[in-house]
Amino acid sequence: MADFENPYVDEDPFVRAHFDCLNCGGKLWEYAIQRQMVCEDCSDVFSSEEVFEASVESAAD
Ligand SMILES: [Zn+2]
Repeated sequence: MADFENPYVDEDPFVRAHFDCLNCGGKLWEYAIQRQMVCEDCSDVFSSEEVFEASVESAAD
């Protein structure tokens, strides 16, 4: 039997994202429920989509 494990069930709703803040370059944490990311340094909030698109663009350089 295969149990489905939801990674967002844990007490901490934040998942460390592999992206940097678009403003200050700090670490972003993904707030899974809202599909948003928050910076641990400047506390700016971005949508996951926004961060992902910016990351793809910079990687294409
Ligand atoms: Zn920041």
